[in-house]
Amino acid sequence: MIEKIKRNLVWRYTCIIFAVSALVFISCDSVYHYVVQHTLEENLFDYLYEECHEAEDSKGISEKVHSYEVDSKMIQSFSYWVLNGKVIHAAQPDGLVGAEFMKKVKNWPYPNMEIQYIKIREQHEVWNFAAVSGDFRLQGQKGKVIVAMNLTPIEDFSENYRQYGLLILLMICILSYFIARNLANRAISPIVKMYNNQKEFVSNASHELKTPLGVLMAYSELVEAKCGKNEDINVIKAEIKNMSALIENLLILSRLDNQKSQEEAVDLDVGAKVKEIVAKFNQIAMDRKFPIEEKIENNLKVKISPIDFQRVMNILLENALKYTPKNKKIAVTLEHKNKKINIAVKDEGVGIKEKDLPHIFERFYRADASHNRKVSGYGLGLSIAWKIVEKYHGQISVISQVGQGSTFCVEFPAD
Ligand code: ADP
Repeated sequence: MIEKIKRNLVWRYTCIIFAVSALVFISCDSVYHYVVQHTLEENLFDYLYEECHEAEDSKGISEKVHSYEVDSKMIQSFSYWVLNGKVIHAAQPDGLVGAEFMKKVKNWPYPNMEIQYIKIREQHEVWNFAAVSGDFRLQGQKGKVIVAMNLTPIEDFSENYRQYGLLILLMICILSYFIARNLANRAISPIVKMYNNQKEFVSNASHELKTPLGVLMAYSELVEAKCGKNEDINVIKAEIKNMSALIENLLILSRLDNQKSQEEAVDLDVGAKVKEIVAKFNQIAMDRKFPIEEKIENNLKVKISPIDFQRVMNILLENALKYTPKNKKIAVTLEHKNKKINIAVKDEGVGIKEKDLPHIFERFYRADASHNRKVSGYGLGLSIAWKIVEKYHGQISVISQVGQGSTFCVEFPAD
């Protein structure tokens, strides 16, 4: 149970830490883009106004074209003055990029004052520009100013930021798992301590109670021998037996919890063992209308301690007998299917309500206390069966319908 809580906590903490990191990463990215976009727009429009004024103030058509080397690591600005489809002044990028730009500005199709993002491929390099146009008047004629800014370094930075960011996020994901594990360990340690103390107490108390119960039983038998059989002594003996069974179960659970169980696993011929157990139960339940039916495949082996296997079968068969009226059937099947050894104990008894089904393997859980009060037990049998089956990497499950009966299925890996 503690392991389950811990796994749950680790998973939740990992998700929280990772989600927060991802949020920080995405926020940084968005803030960065917003700031860059804002600054860029401001600069580009300032530059456009400057160029428009300069063009209007210029004395005449000079047809000067200056070319500058574009640098992928620098934010550079370029400008074009276009009058009657002719570039009358330009400070433009050199080479292929300049030529591409020149083609575009002569027939600038975009509306004024709207920023356009232009990509130009030059061999292996991709250049990114932001450009905007505005009108100017010169000697009564209307011309166009187009200004552009080389955004390649910003785009490169963004690209790198994203790539490294993803890598960092991946690392954060791994790191958050370890941090989460540490946090979960710290959070859970007081519970583990309390749980261990409680287990130790139950184990010690059960040990301590064993002797006085033994003494009580011995004395009641002595009294019975002296005074003869008597109803009162029978009640005392029955209660002592119940208490002893409870204590025995608590001790088994405590051993299973501490994984101190000394039972040696062997290659057990489960078919033979099931037959033996069913025969024993048939002898005990002579008053039933039908003997327990069996459908058993031979020569099936499971690596398990015979004592543990017997415990599981005893629990399931005892329950089947307890919760099935004497005139109804009980059947045990054993088969090899899909690399698993499947054992099913099916009864036509009272069945289990749907609301109780998820809890019946919990300790001390007894479905429907009213009908159970008549039936002996403390709600420990199925939790012991669960623990044993889990110890051998198997699975236990139940299908049940009220009034129709229940089928308990145990699945062990085939040897
Ligand atoms: P108990 O000592 O009460 O039988 P278990 O742990 O063995 O404790 O079973 C838990 C509860 O599951 C029982 O109280 C009973 O309500 C229900 N249960 C178990 N086996 C059966 C069954 N074969 N038919 C109906 N109910 C069952």
